[in-house]
Amino acid sequence: TTMDYSTNDSKSTSKKKVVAVVGGGLVGNLNACYFAKRGFQVEVFESREDILQAKIVKGRSINLVLSHRGRQTLKHVGMEDTIISKGIPMHSRMIHALNGTQSPIPYGKKGQYILSIDRANLNKELLSAAETYPNINLNFANKLLDWSTETGAMTFVRAEGAKEEIQADLIVGCDGAFSAIRKQFLRQSRFNYSQTYTPHGYLEFTMPPINGEFAMKPNNLHIWPRNTFMMIALPNLDKTFNCTLFMPFEEFEKVTTGDKVIEFFQKYFPDAIPLIGALLRGIFFRLPAQAMVSVKCSSYHFGDKCVLMGDAAHAMVPFYGQGMNALFLIFISGAVLPEYTRVRVPDDLAIYFILLTNSDVNSKWFLFRKYVDNFLHIIMPRTIIPLYTMVTFTRTRYHKVVKHWHWQDKVRKDIVHVHSTLFKGL
Ligand SMILES: Cc1cc2nc3c(=O)[nH]c(=O)nc-3n(C[C@H](O)[C@H](O)[C@H](O)COP(=O)(O)OP(=O)(O)OC[C@H]3O[C@@H](n4cnc5c(N)ncnc54)[C@H](O)[C@@H]3O)c2cc1C
Repeated sequence: TTMDYSTNDSKSTSKKKVVAVVGGGLVGNLNACYFAKRGFQVEVFESREDILQAKIVKGRSINLVLSHRGRQTLKHVGMEDTIISKGIPMHSRMIHALNGTQSPIPYGKKGQYILSIDRANLNKELLSAAETYPNINLNFANKLLDWSTETGAMTFVRAEGAKEEIQADLIVGCDGAFSAIRKQFLRQSRFNYSQTYTPHGYLEFTMPPINGEFAMKPNNLHIWPRNTFMMIALPNLDKTFNCTLFMPFEEFEKVTTGDKVIEFFQKYFPDAIPLIGALLRGIFFRLPAQAMVSVKCSSYHFGDKCVLMGDAAHAMVPFYGQGMNALFLIFISGAVLPEYTRVRVPDDLAIYFILLTNSDVNSKWFLFRKYVDNFLHIIMPRTIIPLYTMVTFTRTRYHKVVKHWHWQDKVRKDIVHVHSTLFKGL
């Protein structure tokens, strides 16, 4: 069957332009609310049955870091308060040394924090918000197979196997890192695309409450940095922590039995052993470690027919907690399609640069630079702003963040140079 939702169709009853949002994940649902608010008729097509019923999706973390950029976007659809009321503020990274000592490094100035958010709940809230708009239709169990760049017609397959062709005025591809919409872009001349898997995988497990209370201080993001790998733990409302171990796949492959898990933890994370308790022996064997992919491409749009958003356009590794936060930012701009590509691509490339620059949380140099930055920020708050602060607590465009960071790096070096020259003179 063919359904023509577009306003080109003479039989179309709707006068409103029709936007087809393909993929009803975090970005798709939020996008749907934005387009609906602007008066479009929105059709969301999601391959899963019903996301409200869905359990945790494979390849996705249980909780997420929400920071300023993400919050601003939620605010625009009136959802900031609902979401943050169910989040747990984290004021510092809590660094766990091998000997068990814990040292907090604040994320920003006093009062600045990031939030630990339950991914499933965020998805549900976004979906429930989308359901309140009369001009949004949610079509579950509709998997996009392909679309035509000539006619714009999309082919969907339903759960029962029936195929349907659908036409809309604009297609918004929000179908994630392995986007089916993007496949057609790959055939276009001058479309750049790269996909890279990190050598690291990630494994998630739960740290249960102890005597009904959080096993560690709850208002922190706990980090165990260990050179080529690290473990992190984010608090949940039920007083558990969600732990994620990021480690090269080859290291995961060495841990093959419950005894080896214990041995591994005794070597690298001894302080976590009593906190995880009896669950520890089994954590490596419930699910295999998951892969992490990053995707870069350009352009994000195809004529006036289609645009890629979210992970479909720029999936990134999670170390800066920006994947979702970065995606959310774009809705505010409301730019037309070529403008969206022009404005957005340099910002996304800047994020990859930031990720590379600040990936080594374990090194002494990193810690030293953090202390210097924080100190200079206190005495020159407008001139020297730590990289993390610009990324997490402002909406400064990412490429400007990088530019400013280069500039202040030079200033910082000059200051250190002047000081060391002065000291030499004493
Ligand atoms: C371990 C991990 C931790 C992370 N932590 C953070 C964090 O702390 N902070 C942060 O900001 N970001 C984080 N991210 C990144 C964040 O999860 C993603 O950027 C975000 O989920 C992307 O949303 P999306 O809607 O673009 O894609 P997705 O969430 O992947 O949604 C895509 C949707 O499209 C549907 N779909 C797929 N194919 C089709 C098809 N052919 N037809 C129809 N529907 C389809 C899928 O079912 C899904 O519902 C993390 C990612 C990982 C892997």
